[in-house]
Amino acid sequence: MGKIHELPVELSNQIAAGEVIERPASVVKELVENSIDAHADQILVTVSQSGLKSIEVSDNGDGISPDDVEIAFQPHSTSKISTDHDLFSVRTLGFRGEALASIASVSKLTILTSIDGKSAVKADFAGNTLLNKETFARSKGTTISVEDIFFNTPARLKYVKSLHTELNRIVDIVDRLAMGHPDISFRLIHEGKDLVWTSGNGNLQQAIAGIYGRSIASHMLEFENSDSDYEIKGYFSKPDTTRSNRSYISMILNGRYIKNYHLSNAVVRGYGSKLMIGRFPVAVIDIKLDPNLVDINVHPTKQEVRLTNESRIEELISEGIRSRLSDQNLIPDAVKNL
Ligand code: ADP
Ligand code: MG
Repeated sequence: MGKIHELPVELSNQIAAGEVIERPASVVKELVENSIDAHADQILVTVSQSGLKSIEVSDNGDGISPDDVEIAFQPHSTSKISTDHDLFSVRTLGFRGEALASIASVSKLTILTSIDGKSAVKADFAGNTLLNKETFARSKGTTISVEDIFFNTPARLKYVKSLHTELNRIVDIVDRLAMGHPDISFRLIHEGKDLVWTSGNGNLQQAIAGIYGRSIASHMLEFENSDSDYEIKGYFSKPDTTRSNRSYISMILNGRYIKNYHLSNAVVRGYGSKLMIGRFPVAVIDIKLDPNLVDINVHPTKQEVRLTNESRIEELISEGIRSRLSDQNLIPDAVKNL
């Protein structure tokens, strides 16, 4: 008699969840990315106790058809890609078909979704088991409520840091998603308090204002430096507005927030000697390229990507910033007004 057996679905989902759902902010990221992929232009995130008690993401997107509600929660189930060809030209934020199954496996989840704005389906899941499904009313779109995350994985719960740290991570992820999508209005409410609210009018500088505040956004410089492969635009602070770490440099690639040390270094390089050692600017760099030139299937959270010609992008960024700074009269406003 052999010893090897297939794992029960619930257990294999919990294992998969370990990769993508590390903390409350991961739930926010996955649910909001789904709302973006569903063409929503308004996304509301409501959390309590830094997401540990509850996270609710509500959108006015396409909704899920009543026939698809169950399969959406099965592992490796997606409407976004079908063939291997699709995998190399992904235009959506999701494609792994794992998030809903993973989130449901470590929380108590309710979904309310409507594709036509008339009838809606409400379903409760425990693990990946559908508990009940009813017909309801709702405007077009989807609301997913996640409660008691990690209630059944105590080891993961212990790994979660302080409430303050977890809330910061949620704010950070909503900030970056909002910067990648100035055409969507994002609102984040924690315990009844608005923490992020962007207008969704398509203007990146106004989205930055909704995140870092009007005064920082209005003093930023704009640049654009593109070639036939890469379209690069961005806003960056003048050398007198700096921070003590790099986390205020955001890279958006085809609407996806990515982490890339070389590219953020290229921003810093663009300032040359105008930045003090150990100081970093506030910058948002928006990079558009053919999806074939990037491999996003490197890491489960898709924040690290492999670029075909990274050094060319670095060059366009630092050169764009350098030349914009050199034609900027850097005499402080107070002196100019004398
Ligand atoms: P993926 O995003 O990788 O496809 P998910 O597990 O996150 O996988 O979601 C599974 C499927 O459920 C998606 O492919 C999509 O069809 C559907 N879905 C999830 N969230 C939403 C939403 N907010 N609005 C519309 N459809 C959704
Ligand atoms: Mg998804």
